[in-house]
Amino acid sequence: MYRAKRRGGGVSVYTPDPSRGPSVVTLESALNRALEREEFILHYQPQFDVPSGRLRGMEALLRWQHPELGLVPPSDFIPLAEVTGLIVPIGRWVIGEAARQAVAWSRRSPGLTMAVNLSARQFEQPDLIGDLRNILQASGLPAAQLELELTETMLMQAVEATGTLERLKDLGVRLAVDDFGTGYSNLAYLKHFPIDTLKIDQSFIQSLAGAGPNDPRDEALISAVIQLGHALNLKVLAEGVEQPAQLAFLEAQQCDQVQGYLLGRPAPAGSISAWLAAEPS
Ligand code: C2E
Ligand code: CA
Ligand code: CA
Ligand code: CA
Repeated sequence: MYRAKRRGGGVSVYTPDPSRGPSVVTLESALNRALEREEFILHYQPQFDVPSGRLRGMEALLRWQHPELGLVPPSDFIPLAEVTGLIVPIGRWVIGEAARQAVAWSRRSPGLTMAVNLSARQFEQPDLIGDLRNILQASGLPAAQLELELTETMLMQAVEATGTLERLKDLGVRLAVDDFGTGYSNLAYLKHFPIDTLKIDQSFIQSLAGAGPNDPRDEALISAVIQLGHALNLKVLAEGVEQPAQLAFLEAQQCDQVQGYLLGRPAPAGSISAWLAAEPS
């Protein structure tokens, strides 16, 4: 196994045999080893309530601390972890680790929400509810403090796998729609599913008050999503907030929560703990 620069810039893991191309098997065993050797780590990004500016919770974001490659971003290994099914044990580890961390931070920030990303493979897996129940029990995290982020595509597929969302809701966890606005244009699922939060995809926020001239249509779109969410009794969170003008617009539109580099970048647990300790409570 060696390091190779992809044309796009990121790194990927290959077998040394160039005639056969990248090997899924090699990366699969590397991911397996990573799990055994505890090379996965979580970074956490804070989410804030608007307009109070109070910390609302964190999103847990997975990284692979590779001994040679350094910190590997999720985009470089999650697609393969999904194909091979390894995302199921990796994702189970993510939820357990994030839950333990949430309990530790809750002493200082009572009620803090911990959001974790769920992949389709995890969502489809029959043990999901049992796994979650075990994790909540072992960590002592109240279910209401765990938020599962699902994509629109997963929710559309859940139309067939009905029952899973209801059972998650019975468990008491919160459900968020991630990357809202980038998936299906069919919104009927919003009416049927027990969702708590809409996360407006960062592409919408970034075209807002971006580098180029302001497009009033971007503003119209975001404000319509916020109103839609509120009409359905959902919280609306905007992700990817990078500029003060974006935050000001979201505040004016009564967006409920914000997350982005402007307010806090994803960081390892130790840095977040230090930041929390320095915050006035
Ligand atoms: P996502 O769930 O949409 O997460 C948001 C991504 O945007 C994160 O990238 C975050 O670091 C980045 N981000 C946050 N604020 C800003 C901002 O203000 N500007 C910009 N440009 N970017 C911002 P990251 O950590 O590289 O994660 C990428 C994706 O990988 C995530 O997108 C999620 O789909 C997936 N992912 C991350 N952790 C997990 C996990 O534990 N399980 C699963 N299944 N997927 C995960
Ligand atoms: Ca997410
Ligand atoms: Ca997202
Ligand atoms: Ca995304």
